[in-house]
Amino acid sequence: MRQSRLFTKTRREAPSDETAKNAQLLVRAGYIHKEMAGVYSYLPLGLRTLNKIIQIIREEMDAVGGQEIIMTALQDKTLWERTDRWDETKVDIWFKMKFAGGGDTGLAITHEEPLTRIMTAHISSYRDLPTMVYQFQNKFRNELRAKSGVMRGKEFMMKDLYSFAKSDEEHEAQYAAVRAAYVRIFERLGLAGRTYPTFASGGVFSDFSEEFQTLSEAGEDTIYVDEKKHIAVNREVLTDEALAKLGIDRATLVEKKAVESGNIFHLGTRFSETLGLSFTDETGAKKPVIMGSYGIGVTRMVGILTEVFADEKGLVWPESVAPFAVHLVSLGKEGDEISKTADTLYDDLTKAGVEVLYDDRDLRAGEKFAESDLLGIPKRVVVGKDAAATGVFEVVTRLNGAVEKVPREQLFS
Ligand code: ATP
Ligand code: MG
Repeated sequence: MRQSRLFTKTRREAPSDETAKNAQLLVRAGYIHKEMAGVYSYLPLGLRTLNKIIQIIREEMDAVGGQEIIMTALQDKTLWERTDRWDETKVDIWFKMKFAGGGDTGLAITHEEPLTRIMTAHISSYRDLPTMVYQFQNKFRNELRAKSGVMRGKEFMMKDLYSFAKSDEEHEAQYAAVRAAYVRIFERLGLAGRTYPTFASGGVFSDFSEEFQTLSEAGEDTIYVDEKKHIAVNREVLTDEALAKLGIDRATLVEKKAVESGNIFHLGTRFSETLGLSFTDETGAKKPVIMGSYGIGVTRMVGILTEVFADEKGLVWPESVAPFAVHLVSLGKEGDEISKTADTLYDDLTKAGVEVLYDDRDLRAGEKFAESDLLGIPKRVVVGKDAAATGVFEVVTRLNGAVEKVPREQLFS
């Protein structure tokens, strides 16, 4: 991609009403556009990063047998009334609307209900189980607090997977497989070291559900970390009784600020019993399906990665999710040797499959470098007078500012 053709521009100032560091930086770097508080559009650079996060999650969900679908945003009021999650007094974050022809609808806050109903058309026998289904979809929640930038949207993308099993053992195996996939996802996002499986209330078998909490000063949650075991508990679980059950010693726990990046949950038969999702077992007996749900905040992840890795100069992306691998910065003027060298290098790198953003604009070097720092692409390859003459390029690593001299052919490895 030639930067001269990229329609997004970097900005000196973030919107004055934006208080979150993640959204300030992402807006300034041209990754996102703020529509309203808690509502953001993704522009070319932001979408590339978002898509890389999606692809990592998709690969790991597919690897454990998840099957991808996409459900609707518009929801059937009568379905949600059956589980008692429509009533304002029970769930107060719905965006609700009327159909032109009469009747109510709302924008999906989550998808347990519609998917359970879909599955009643596909699961009837033990032969149909186990199975796991997931999607990437926008959720809509009328969140009161929208002060955390893309980390708390009123419209945001979630990956939600749901598991369906015929026995507790089968459910536990699914749960363990998805849990392990989550650990791999956080490793690939460069967040494993600072992301703690965190016990929360609300489980069915073990009395607990698990959140994946990523340490960040910008987080809205407080967790209590056992560094040695690399686990944590949230506030609800910080009772002597719960800690004893988990075999955690209160004295080892350290209080930290964190943000919930994902959450996995034993649902038991709560939805299947209410919505009539059952199967007949080998003996012909009819039983409710045992379910689990597993969420990850996909757009929240863009914010988390920003908060965790950005420095005073701007964004810093792990290679796995950077919009481009290389920022090629030419210091030439149109038609001169430097820009000819840069043009050919851009073409050759692109042909070799390297994802390159090419700053081919006529701007001062200082301005280009400052923008390059703001964009946070992992490697910057500079084409100046020396490079054009010698074929040796200055390569700057964004993460630590390290500068190396690299011969042309090594740029392709
Ligand atoms: P929180 O406690 O932060 O409100 P939640 O318990 O409501 O999260 P879930 O309903 O389990 O979250 O959603 C699954 C995942 O979706 C969360 O772990 C989080 O990463 C993400 N998420 C939840 N609410 C938002 C939001 N308003 N904006 C962006 N991501 C969100
Ligand atoms: Mg919430």
